[in-house]
Amino acid sequence: MVLVYSDDKKLALELLNKASELGKELHKRVIAVTIGHEEYSTEYLECGADLVIVAETSQHQFKAEEYTSILENIMKEHRNEIILIGSNKNGKELAARLAAKLDAGCVMDCTKVYVQDQKLTTERIVYSGNAIAVEQFTSLPQIVTIPSKVFDPLPKNPHHKGEIVKKKIDGEPFPSKILNVQETKSEGVNVEDAQIIVSCGRGFKKKEDIRLVNELADILKGRTVGCSRPIAADLKWLSEDHWIGLSGHKVKPKLYVACGISGQIQHIAGMRDSGVIVAINKDPEALIFKSADYGIVGDLYEILPKLTNAIKGKIS
Ligand SMILES: Cc1cc2nc3c(=O)[nH]c(=O)nc-3n(C[C@H](O)[C@H](O)[C@H](O)COP(=O)(O)OP(=O)(O)OC[C@H]3O[C@@H](n4cnc5c(N)ncnc54)[C@H](O)[C@@H]3O)c2cc1C
Repeated sequence: MVLVYSDDKKLALELLNKASELGKELHKRVIAVTIGHEEYSTEYLECGADLVIVAETSQHQFKAEEYTSILENIMKEHRNEIILIGSNKNGKELAARLAAKLDAGCVMDCTKVYVQDQKLTTERIVYSGNAIAVEQFTSLPQIVTIPSKVFDPLPKNPHHKGEIVKKKIDGEPFPSKILNVQETKSEGVNVEDAQIIVSCGRGFKKKEDIRLVNELADILKGRTVGCSRPIAADLKWLSEDHWIGLSGHKVKPKLYVACGISGQIQHIAGMRDSGVIVAINKDPEALIFKSADYGIVGDLYEILPKLTNAIKGKIS
């Protein structure tokens, strides 16, 4: 069996695509687990699951100890050989704990998962994006975590047959409890789902100048502004919602415009899957041009207003 779990529904749907592919190749059923969210079940079936297990629990807030215990319970009953877990903060904690409980191998943040020489093989970016580690499992079960946007969900197929099973699982009482959850402040920006992103980097001299990026994003009807790490983490000109890269958000828009961004591998790791990449940089040797489909060499303070005006004339 191939089991899929993520507390993020979209990510679970993406993983179901890979699970279905592995399931077909290895002749195994695909199980999707949702903890407490029965409303996800039909979509999971339509997007590739052969069986959806709805774990009914009184534990509605994510808590690693309890959720590990629930998955361990399901694992032991169904003898899953491959477990794909969404690689967000909760998923990584869960995967590590589950691996320890099951004495299983676990590879985090994989960008490729396939079968080679009859062994499950994974690839992941290491050394800040400077190398790719290719690893194979030598024992069962095999736990793999996969970040968002690595795979697309399968198109919904209402005719895909499968079953939904409810399971009441209340783990043993654990020695800690959640007293309070405080959400981080967000500007409501969702770069991960944006189709057009205009991004800014250290090429901007001051915070107010980011309006040039806003204006281009507005005219492109993308309205989504991204940035490199220094803009969010060091200068704090934009919130972390905008931060793109290895340690920021991974994005896959149709169009990515990088303005005043040098193109270090850690930034590229977050946007390399974009459809068309346009780079504006005054340094003709800037690394960003190696990843760009179109490059404009010049001063962004001259180019951005001209570009925005030129596009305005074409669009409106
Ligand atoms: C473990 C680790 C994780 C990291 N994670 C991330 C991450 O997730 N995301 C990320 O972005 N970075 C990340 N970094 C940092 C990364 O290595 C770079 O330092 C960072 O991406 C550089 O940001 P930048 O391109 O905006 O700035 P710089 O490298 O300073 O580049 C500025 C660019 O602007 C150009 N420029 C200057 N003035 C103008 C002008 N007037 N017109 C046009 N061009 C101009 C320059 O030629 C230069 O190429 C990480 C680093 C490490 C070690």
